[in-house]
Amino acid sequence: MSERIAICPGTFDPITNGHVDIIQRSLRIFDRVVVAVLVNPQKRPLFESQRRIELIRASLQGVERVEVESFQGLLVDYVKERGGSAIIRGLRAVSDFEYELQMALMNRRLSQEVETVFMMPSEEYSFLSSTMIKEIASFGGSVRGLVPEPVERALREVFHNV
Ligand code: ADP
Repeated sequence: MSERIAICPGTFDPITNGHVDIIQRSLRIFDRVVVAVLVNPQKRPLFESQRRIELIRASLQGVERVEVESFQGLLVDYVKERGGSAIIRGLRAVSDFEYELQMALMNRRLSQEVETVFMMPSEEYSFLSSTMIKEIASFGGSVRGLVPEPVERALREVFHNV
């Protein structure tokens, strides 16, 4: 039987425990998960894409059946190129829904073969976003328990105060 591969796309600037939660849940239903880091210089990320990839790899150390890569261009093309059958997205609150529905329906229009699968994180991470983490860290607040340790260290290096 062929492997079931899911693609977890995102900016991951930086990866949080909410992302890790979703990736681990995906591994329960897919044979392999590819974490795909979007290279989008227009978004002006805090961490450049190579660093974001390093931080994801360090955060998922010891987790099997996961690969981390960067991607550019149309997501559905990338999914097919990687032999994936699904796109995984996390849904935190109702506020995520409208944007996610729009994207899922557009991706379906672009490719009938790729299915979007939504997953809910554990409640403790359902208020968490990379943007919020950067804001807290920039003001010297503690992000312990909300991001993997390699990310906590990386934020400390950037802001010198976490
Ligand atoms: P994007 O810019 O594509 O939204 P993100 O890196 O912010 O990229 O998010 C990637 C995916 O992870 C999205 O599906 C998003 O909804 C999900 N996600 C982000 N934060 C969390 C969280 N705390 N819990 C669950 N899913 C999350």
